[in-house]
Amino acid sequence: MADEIIVTNNLDESAFPLTEGCRLPVRMRNLEETTLLAEILSIKDTTNGESLYYVHYIDFNKRLDEWVGKDRLDLTRVQQPKKEVKTPLKEIKNGSRPCSPEREIIIKEEPIQLLQNGNAPPKKSTAGRKRKFPGTPEDLNASISKDTDSKDASPSPRTTGSLVAHHDDLITRMKNIEMIELGGHMIKPWYFSPYPQELVSLSCIYLCEFCLKYMKSRVCLKRHMAKCNLRHPPGNEIYRKSSISFFEIDGRKNKVYAQNLCLLAKCFLDHKTLYYDTDPFLFYVMTEVDNSGFHIVGYFSKEKESTEDYNVACILTLPPYQRKGYGKMLIEFSYELSKFEGKTGSPEKPLSDLGLLSYRSYWAETILEILVNVKPTETGERPQITIQEISEQTSIKKEDVISTLSYLNLIYYYKGQYIITLTKEVLLAYERAVAKRTIRIEAQSLHWTPKDWSKRGKW
Ligand SMILES: [Zn+2]
Repeated sequence: MADEIIVTNNLDESAFPLTEGCRLPVRMRNLEETTLLAEILSIKDTTNGESLYYVHYIDFNKRLDEWVGKDRLDLTRVQQPKKEVKTPLKEIKNGSRPCSPEREIIIKEEPIQLLQNGNAPPKKSTAGRKRKFPGTPEDLNASISKDTDSKDASPSPRTTGSLVAHHDDLITRMKNIEMIELGGHMIKPWYFSPYPQELVSLSCIYLCEFCLKYMKSRVCLKRHMAKCNLRHPPGNEIYRKSSISFFEIDGRKNKVYAQNLCLLAKCFLDHKTLYYDTDPFLFYVMTEVDNSGFHIVGYFSKEKESTEDYNVACILTLPPYQRKGYGKMLIEFSYELSKFEGKTGSPEKPLSDLGLLSYRSYWAETILEILVNVKPTETGERPQITIQEISEQTSIKKEDVISTLSYLNLIYYYKGQYIITLTKEVLLAYERAVAKRTIRIEAQSLHWTPKDWSKRGKW
């Protein structure tokens, strides 16, 4: 992309004023030596007369956006804003990004176990290529860099041409809340959330961890806690196993709670647009209990009636609980509900980068669990299974089964049939992943009867 680069030899600001829309290299926080191309989204003046710049690192997820001082800007390489410039996606993909340790799994063609099926295939043979097992840190980086792609792929309507829409878009592109206190955790939001304007200007918003009501000060919170008698989310507790519980909340019956949950969730979900019309949804909140109450860990929402077999609308593990296996438990629980309903399901798209990562990893482990346990036929032939059977046993939609097998490069077409090859490497990676997954959902602990919402007229 031939972006115009204006090289300023002297740093005379009056000649090249920094404006919103300018692009320039910015030194990233905590990575002293790393500068990345960023766009200035907003500028504000501080009380000591200096300016702060809100920057978005091109090709990186918005959660890394931040306010920076001038000392972190490379003023020698400023690109002035252009109208309707399309972001060059590949521009810094292979730049001086910090490396993460990578564990690669090489799929060899040496067959250990062969399975056949006659169902819908992936488009072409992918055998022999290298593929990483989902869930490695390398994948996380890869996903983070896809922000721009996924945004373009978003099916949500994006109004163009309207100044108002553009203005709104600019506002919602910027993080507006500095800090949230929730149940003793100080949590830094990642994205915009439409909390009331008078709270947004404060250095911290205080939430009651049980009813999720938001308050402007710790004093207000203390006063509230003295009279708030909730010690768990509203709704029915439908699952309990050791310290983990799930509560089912009807978005119509518990509207205020559902709205407060959406406001909190929006701080960590980029694509989420639902805040107020919670009626058509159920919310499944996962908690961890101790002697002070049931503390929210994460949740997912689900349409009461989905014409497209979605079994999850939004899904989130709160930051203090991330990277501990809770996300996978939320996903596992959503499929457990689908099994109880006798249906297959899939999460609503687009998935966030971290969401996709968790799903890929869950799908891979769940499908491999089935495959490694398929027994050879009585006549001693190679074991057989169909995509349909995998889908029925796991409630994972057929498309997701196929995409997972293709993503892992396990399936290929040979002499008129589809063959899955499980190599030692894949099995080893699978065993490692399973060993790490110490907390699991137990079907016997779910006490729940699915409702047929289509028969209820209005929810
Ligand atoms: Zn409360």
